Amino acid sequence: MPFGNPVSPTGIATINSPVATPFTLRVIPRDQHTISRKDISPNALRVLYRLREAGFGAYLVGGAVRDLLVGGRPKDFDVATDATPEQVKQLFRNCRLIGRRFRLAHVVFGREIIEVATFRANSDDGSGDREVENGMLVRDNVYGSIEDDAVRRDFSCNALYYAIEDFSVRDYTGGFEDVLARRMKLIGDPEQRYREDPVRMLRAVRLAAKLKFDIEPATAAPIPRLAGLLDEAAPARLFEEVLKLFLSGHGVASFEGLERHGLLPALFPESAAALKSNRSGALRRFVVEGLRSTDARVANDEPVSPAFLFALLLWPAFCRALIALQRQGLAPEEAQRRAADRVTLHQLTTIALPRRFSLPMQEIWLLQSRFASRQRKRVLRTLTHPRFRAAFDFLVLRQVASSEHEADIAFWREAQQQSGHELESALDAAHAEGMEDEAPRRRRRRRRRSGTAAGE
Ligand code: ATP
Ligand code: MG
Repeated sequence: MPFGNPVSPTGIATINSPVATPFTLRVIPRDQHTISRKDISPNALRVLYRLREAGFGAYLVGGAVRDLLVGGRPKDFDVATDATPEQVKQLFRNCRLIGRRFRLAHVVFGREIIEVATFRANSDDGSGDREVENGMLVRDNVYGSIEDDAVRRDFSCNALYYAIEDFSVRDYTGGFEDVLARRMKLIGDPEQRYREDPVRMLRAVRLAAKLKFDIEPATAAPIPRLAGLLDEAAPARLFEEVLKLFLSGHGVASFEGLERHGLLPALFPESAAALKSNRSGALRRFVVEGLRSTDARVANDEPVSPAFLFALLLWPAFCRALIALQRQGLAPEEAQRRAADRVTLHQLTTIALPRRFSLPMQEIWLLQSRFASRQRKRVLRTLTHPRFRAAFDFLVLRQVASSEHEADIAFWREAQQQSGHELESALDAAHAEGMEDEAPRRRRRRRRRSGTAAGE
């Protein structure tokens, strides 16, 4: 058994972590912490009280306790209990049971869902519902005590329990001190815990970015060496994790954290390679600027889209693939299409980007080359393209990496503001000018086209 966790016979006071470090229960009474019931969702309180009244243990746990302790506003409230999912279901009419890897009860109140999980254990005598493949947990439904539940969580700051019966915080892993010191610390042996679930490496970086915590040295040390284990993680899970990393308002900090801990190549191998070989640093400036503007949008409650995010993160890979294909002698439009397809396809082996996002991502890329054209028909087609606005915002960001887009940005900014009539006359005027300037070239091209129609 790769991650045994022997529980002491007395159960309560002292327990053993996966590396046999003893943990002692520390109870932090109400007057020594800052969590107040008025900051807890009324629906979560309802669930806690109902479980308690039915004689079960009921605790607020995980991210919500942590966020409340640092003065943040939790985005969801999770409950842990010694009631089994079936027992929870019997207590709440508005309850459904979900999940295979983790069997959970969801208590549904309109748009808010309170997740209720039964205490789980790491230790397994073989009789529980657990399945491990290549050292990774694929199913984990072995129930246990609250102490077991605490040590199987990832970071100590995520393993705190707020008890509804006396409003105390229960700490089995030293998490309370770690939250006060703003420190991410993995419970147990870091390497073993990353091997069990490599996504924990991303969670370390993401939560440190979100909470402005430091990752303590022993927790950070193995990450660069083990980053490659993310190859084994489920691509759909990585997609969700990437959205949380970059679309929660701390995208720049997440990006810098991934860079610092050597995780960027594991998530975006081709973009990481392109960024590394881009000596001027222009591509990196572009990505960081894009993430900064995404963070600003999140802060202003403006919508952000996964398609735009991935267009940004994979742009370095796209540029690199495009240059390689053009060097092979492909015509620009063909090279762009192929580069877009190639980058998308390669990326899909790591992160499951759904087509409803990868298609608009590609459109954002392919529209970039259209911004140089002032040809009447093309201008109108570009302006009415459903992805125009996103592609234009993308062009504005590219200005950070290279100032050559200034004239295009000015033209398209104006084009959007003009009425249809104004735009048509402006284009007519531009067209007339262009006819004079370009007359000799146009004539030559026309002659050539009539000779070799298949050539273009
Ligand atoms: P946030 O919701 O702010 O992103 P969170 O810590 O609440 O952060 P969730 O994914 O909602 O993250 O997980 C809830 C809790 O479940 C965590 O606080 C942690 O205790 C536990 N947990 C989540 N993922 C893991 C994991 N991979 N390994 C061990 N425990 C985990
Ligand atoms: Mg959460």
